[in-house]
Amino acid sequence: MRRKQFKAESKKLLDMMVNSIYTNKEIFLRELISNASDALDKLYFRSLTDNTVLLRKEDYEIRLTPDKDARTLKITDNGCGMTALDLEQNLGTIAKSGSLDFKNQNSEADVEIIGQFGVGFYSAFMVSRAVTVKSRAFGADEAWCWHSEGADGYTLEQCEKDGFGTEIILELKEDTENEDYSRYLESYTLTSLVKKYSDYIRYPVKMTVDTRVPGEKEGEYVDAKEDRTLNSMVPLWRKSKSEITPEEYNAFYKDKFFDYSDPLAVIHSKTEGQATYDALMYVPSRAPYDYYSKNYEKGLALYSNGVLITEKCADLLPDHFSFVKGLVDSADLSLNVSREMLQQDSQLRLIAKTVEKKIKNELTSMLSKDREKYEEFFKQFGIQLKFGVYSDYGLHKDELKELLLFISSADKKYVTLAEYTAAMPEDQKSIYYAGGESTALIEALPRVEAVKSKGFNVLYLTDAVDEFALMTLGEYSGKKFVNVCGDSLDIDMGETGDEVKKLNEEKSELLGFISESLGDSVAAVRFTDKLASHPVCLTTEGAVSVEMEKALNAVPGDSSVKARTVLEINSAHPVKEKLIELYDNDRDTLKSLSVVLLGEARLIGGLTLDDPSAFAKELNSLIL
Ligand code: ADP
Ligand code: MG
Repeated sequence: MRRKQFKAESKKLLDMMVNSIYTNKEIFLRELISNASDALDKLYFRSLTDNTVLLRKEDYEIRLTPDKDARTLKITDNGCGMTALDLEQNLGTIAKSGSLDFKNQNSEADVEIIGQFGVGFYSAFMVSRAVTVKSRAFGADEAWCWHSEGADGYTLEQCEKDGFGTEIILELKEDTENEDYSRYLESYTLTSLVKKYSDYIRYPVKMTVDTRVPGEKEGEYVDAKEDRTLNSMVPLWRKSKSEITPEEYNAFYKDKFFDYSDPLAVIHSKTEGQATYDALMYVPSRAPYDYYSKNYEKGLALYSNGVLITEKCADLLPDHFSFVKGLVDSADLSLNVSREMLQQDSQLRLIAKTVEKKIKNELTSMLSKDREKYEEFFKQFGIQLKFGVYSDYGLHKDELKELLLFISSADKKYVTLAEYTAAMPEDQKSIYYAGGESTALIEALPRVEAVKSKGFNVLYLTDAVDEFALMTLGEYSGKKFVNVCGDSLDIDMGETGDEVKKLNEEKSELLGFISESLGDSVAAVRFTDKLASHPVCLTTEGAVSVEMEKALNAVPGDSSVKARTVLEINSAHPVKEKLIELYDNDRDTLKSLSVVLLGEARLIGGLTLDDPSAFAKELNSLIL
């Protein structure tokens, strides 16, 4: 036996491999199982033309054998095996991939070779102090044993081995404070690693596990061995849609994405062309508890040929569809050597783009075909769509605007912007909205009442993001969005416009007095003809509405944004006469009444009182 050195550069590479390429030691199992699967594929391919291969497809298998006493983990396959030369070339030279050569030579074959970089095998050294490979090539009389303890090199000698195929024996490292290598001897760990990374390998990954079975006597259980197949083999998304029942889709979702309830929608697609991939995506029926928090991680699982590459590839989903769960499987991704991350890949971007389109199409068709379901969806994730309109400076607004729903004053039901505008009477110029904590509070706003009395519908905005989204949209189908509580309300309440103007001019001293009594709390006080039954209301001037002030100030940090609020007094309400009278006769009482009216306007507007005890004092002075 002669000790051989790894090729010079390989030595360095091996060291690098073991210590830094992979961030996650557990992937060694994925790599070795992938290699075994490739070996089975190669033999299967040969069987198509070579009738000395007597295996039936169901005879092919990969087997895991942990041995706690010997502290070894064995991975065996009955695939093509390796000759001495193969062992030397493929395992003695790092970054030499026999599989890639095979793929290139048989590019038309119906095989799904996974290997391509020629480094995966060495990940075994992340968890092993020594690795032994016993292999017998199919059709060869002799078997060969390759053994290495890492960077020092390897030995190669003839050995005994029954049957063809490969047997890889890992002598696991001793546990350290930070690393528990012993867990790779536990059938529980092995089972879950196979499930996680290699569930869709096309050949069975088997293991004999200890279990307990009912014994001879009643109620007695005895130790037993059971041979189990750990992987499910057939990726659901590879089957054609017609072969899959709704129950299967749902079961897969619940199992894979840890949800108790069925998804609201399934998007299953096979895409060919510039980007070739299968996608299986779900719209959950409920937002996960952490969905609207920083902890939520968006992303789709990414598979390459059925082998898991990344559990959550964030680049595959835009933020506005971050609620979608699912996976993408593509054979033509350019992976980096560790197969953990993708390089910034144009293929990936192409996939992300079409994925986004598919999600949008699904939601659009749900909106038109199953309104009830769409509203259910919107209750859970609508806010995210509105964020999507508002974020990135409105980059996605046109893509998303038709998907938005708002509560309309009509029946307090959801409407789309298209439905709202379609129902507008001819003399309505703008799309009206009002914001507040709840639809009941908004409904009670004096200005809302006034606009409704003209026969116009008002959109009720109850989420902080709503108004920002509308501002980002700017207009819809040529119609501006107008806050009915703002200063740009463009409705005409009759022939009284000029009268109010005159009234405001004539009574400017009175209004000035009220304004002074209220100090900084209002920017202006004036009479209005845009109220129906209420005596007063609060409106705003300029770009910032009261709701926006609330939303902006809810964000920690800068809270300097202030809405310019205006106290409006109904010129057709008896309160007008009262104010005029008090101005002439009792200014102390007028002062108190001003404070109380402002308080009333704030409360009706869903705001709190700036100074409740001062309010109470003035109210008492009026009553007593
Ligand atoms: P890759 O799989 O990317 O080619 P690896 O380092 O994982 O790289 O494996 C190197 C090569 O060793 C493979 O390409 C293959 O030719 C050979 N090989 C590894 N494991 C086996 C196996 N179980 N049976 C047959 N050949 C194998
Ligand atoms: Mg490999």
